[in-house]
Parts: sequence; structure tokens; C-alpha cells
Amino acid sequence: MRSIDEHDYHFEEWLTPQEIARDVEQVAERIRDDYKDKEPLFVVVLNGAFVFAADLIRALNNIRCEVTFIRVSSYWGMSSTGQLNFIVPLQQVVENRDVVIVEDIVDSGLTVHQLKAHLRGLGAASVTVASMLFKPNKLEYDDAKPDYIGHEISDEFVIGYGLDFDGFHRNLDAIYKVKNNNLTA
Ligand code: 5GP
Repeated sequence: MRSIDEHDYHFEEWLTPQEIARDVEQVAERIRDDYKDKEPLFVVVLNGAFVFAADLIRALNNIRCEVTFIRVSSYWGMSSTGQLNFIVPLQQVVENRDVVIVEDIVDSGLTVHQLKAHLRGLGAASVTVASMLFKPNKLEYDDAKPDYIGHEISDEFVIGYGLDFDGFHRNLDAIYKVKNNNLTA
């Protein structure tokens, strides 16, 4: 069993690269079915989702699609006009597009909840969510439940496969769970 020690935290491998690959393929299969007659626009939420997105997009090599990236503020501040605070703004016109938001993990669901409202406000024809991980016990916004889920997880904090701890460990090829404390996201 592989493990990582960071500060006072001990992480143990939870999903192996092979298990992750199976999860990604299952998600891709469902998206392929649902979007085979459409031209979806994948909106990848930086930073964490870039690894999952790279695998997912390539597993969808037989559908016609576009991929774009956004990064939203971690302060989650909404201006008086109700717009999200973008660090990397949306580059693409989403009006009348079938949008799939690609996330690393949905926790409280606030990010996805706000993003969905934003994309609908811009005239997206439809908005769904594909997330590698989902913490159902933490969900506070019903509309943020992902349509496509790689793996469900309880409240534990995880790193690897794009997910960081203070900016580090995104490059791990597996997903590791914290073991020795109550660290939660
Ligand atoms: P939400 O808006 O759904 O509450 O939070 C989503 C964001 O919280 C994720 O995109 C991710 O950046 C962060 N997050 C939530 N849970 C975890 C976790 O277990 N590990 C890491 N590294 N980040 C997490």
C-alpha cells in the first residue's frame, strides 16, 4: 500500500490508477451515449479537474466536442449582478450549447451551483456535470449533484489525480485518503 506524509498528515492510497481508469471509462461510456448526437462543450474547472479532464476527453475521442477552461475565485464572492468571480474567465460562447462541467470533486456543491446558474444565464441549452469524485454527505445544493460520477466518497480529505494539498500532490497517479486526523475539505 503506497502512502504519502505531508506536514503531520498521513495519506494512504485509496483508488489505484487502474481503478481510476475504470471509473473514467464508465463515465465516458455514459457521456458517449448521452451526447453522441450533440456537440458538447466541456468546461473544465481549473485547477483540480485538469487531470480527470485529460483522461475523460481522450476516452471520448469518437464524439465531436469542444473543450474550454475556467478558474473561479475561491472566495466565492458574487457581485451585485450575481456573477461569479472568474480568475480565468470563460473564453467560449455558451449560448445554445450543451455544456458539460468537468470537476475534480463536488463537496458542498457551491462551485457547481453557482457555475450552473452562470452558464444558464449565458443561454446554455443544457448544463450537466461530470465529477471524478462526489461527497454526497456534504452536499448543500441539490442542483449540484453530478450527473456523471467517477466514485463516491464520504467526508475524508483526498489528494492526487489533480487534487492538491496546499498546491502540491496534484501529480500523484492515484487518489490518496488522509488517515490520521479529521482533516476535511
Ligand atoms: P464545493 O464548492 O463543492 O464545496 O468544493 C469543491 C472544491 O473544494 C473542489 O473543486 C476542491 O478544490 C475542494 N475540495 C473539496 N473536497 C476536497 C478534498 O477532499 N480534497 C481536495 N484536495 N480538495 C477538495
